Amino acid sequence: MPCGTGWESLEKQQNIVASTLAASPCNVLMIYPRFMADSFWNFSEACELVGARYPAIPLGLITVAALLPKSWNVRLVNRNTEELADGDLDWADMVMTGGMLFQQSDTLELIEMCRARALPVVVGGPDATSSPHRYETANFRVLGEVEDIIGQFIAAWEKGDREGMFVAEKFQVDVTKTPIPRFDLLKFEQYLYIGVQFSRGCPFTCEFCDIIELYGRSPRTKSHDQMLAELEALYKLGYRGHVDFVDDNLIGNKKAIKAFLPVLEKWIGQHDYPFEFTTEASLNLADDDDLLAMLKRSNFFAVFVGIESPDTETLIAMRKKQNTRRSIGDSVHKIYHAGMFVTAGFIVGFDSEKGSIAEPMIELIEEAAIPIAMVGLLYALPNTQLTRRLAREGRLHVDHDSAPASKGDQCTAGVNYETKRSRLEILYDYRKILERIYDPDAFCGRLERLAAMLDCSGRRKELPEGDIRRRLSTINMVHELLSRLPEGRERFWKAFMTCMSKNPQSVRAIVTLMAFYLHVGPYSRYVMKQIDRQIEDLEQGRFVAPKLLPPVAPEPVAPKPVAPQPIAMSA
Ligand code: SF4
Repeated sequence: MPCGTGWESLEKQQNIVASTLAASPCNVLMIYPRFMADSFWNFSEACELVGARYPAIPLGLITVAALLPKSWNVRLVNRNTEELADGDLDWADMVMTGGMLFQQSDTLELIEMCRARALPVVVGGPDATSSPHRYETANFRVLGEVEDIIGQFIAAWEKGDREGMFVAEKFQVDVTKTPIPRFDLLKFEQYLYIGVQFSRGCPFTCEFCDIIELYGRSPRTKSHDQMLAELEALYKLGYRGHVDFVDDNLIGNKKAIKAFLPVLEKWIGQHDYPFEFTTEASLNLADDDDLLAMLKRSNFFAVFVGIESPDTETLIAMRKKQNTRRSIGDSVHKIYHAGMFVTAGFIVGFDSEKGSIAEPMIELIEEAAIPIAMVGLLYALPNTQLTRRLAREGRLHVDHDSAPASKGDQCTAGVNYETKRSRLEILYDYRKILERIYDPDAFCGRLERLAAMLDCSGRRKELPEGDIRRRLSTINMVHELLSRLPEGRERFWKAFMTCMSKNPQSVRAIVTLMAFYLHVGPYSRYVMKQIDRQIEDLEQGRFVAPKLLPPVAPEPVAPKPVAPQPIAMSA
């Protein structure tokens, strides 16, 4: 079906969602809470370089906005990009807010602020869903995937209720009926990239992961027309540039993504390549040559992969078997040969680490040539298999699910449980990894090796008019970037020249990664200082171990079925 038809039919569908509820007018102020200031993910210096204020958009809130009645007026304030004015609060009849664990502190502050003004506040999103008890002060809690319960909330509001809790049945939402997010509420220039979502859920079973608890293990995907309608909406609003498929594992349903990519390839060709894409995917992406080629043809230029550990036993223990029985380095290189650079997640602190994990992890990052490796301490997130196991074992810190701004994220506040290996050794390992991988010389060496492998053939040289990343492609901007580096400028210049001479087409990717270093270089030094303090406290006997929660009884085992049951399939 041509995309125009898809757009119209989805618009009609959206009208049906909203207009089935004949609601009286209401001013809804959506507030996206601030993330903790100290975070690996905010890439603040890279944003500043291109004139943006934050990397990612509040996709969840603008999706909820699309589900509200047409008679309701919606304003959006993102506290990561702009100030919340008193006038916004005066205008509002209701505030909607919520986010992730590392937004908890600001979300609670917002709830308090609203309650002090007697302004009803509704909270939802991943952290409220995983830890509803933390948000009892909100008037309404709307928990889980919201599409099927938003109608109940609207009806209750219309009836005059001002308190309530609505909980969605798990993994039941038919995402093909999810309306187009209200992209019109965004100020595009504030963001490094715009997010869209194709699927929810992942077939894997990683023990530390909350995605499978929030969205299930059977990926549910949107229809082709629906996705094209979302892209068409962005296109018509004038957005050009980087679009991120925010799916936690875009290849969770390979059949579905392989069916969609040719449609996407055709669409971007017809629209003269207005967008370049990134996403997250599991490492088994490297096993599928067709899929890699399809992603390349569809203008994907980077992918985030969860590698986690170089240790096979640890990967097996955390149930990340898709990363075993392979050379991780070779798999990453295969993705480079398909024209996409890899950023990757690594974690230190698993029970199964027999001894120091530092050298093998550094070697792997170097061998794979991954410039941006997000290395964190293991953090028992609420609502995961890991947290339930630690609770049974009586090893969870009492405040494991509280995230005050002063504590930081998984880089500085990780290991929120009683460790098996010495806590001191874990911290030493972590510090050593950060020091070595974010040394300017090591970072530039990885850039050069990546440039030698990255096959950018067929990629458009020119970015479209309006893409903020065009600013990065001038030589003046490269000089500006280098002048902002706190150290190693000569080494970075040499790396830039090496990449230019060996693979000029890779330069856009290389400059982008250098811009990320503006943040991760100094940030890693900041984290090292925090870790040094923790190490010193442990060595000087000043460390006071947090209290532990008493062990939780194991969940009762379900009685055996009388009749034989079909065996569930998993990837
Ligand atoms: S592959 Fe990624 S999204 Fe899937 S379960 Fe593992 S960590 Fe979670």
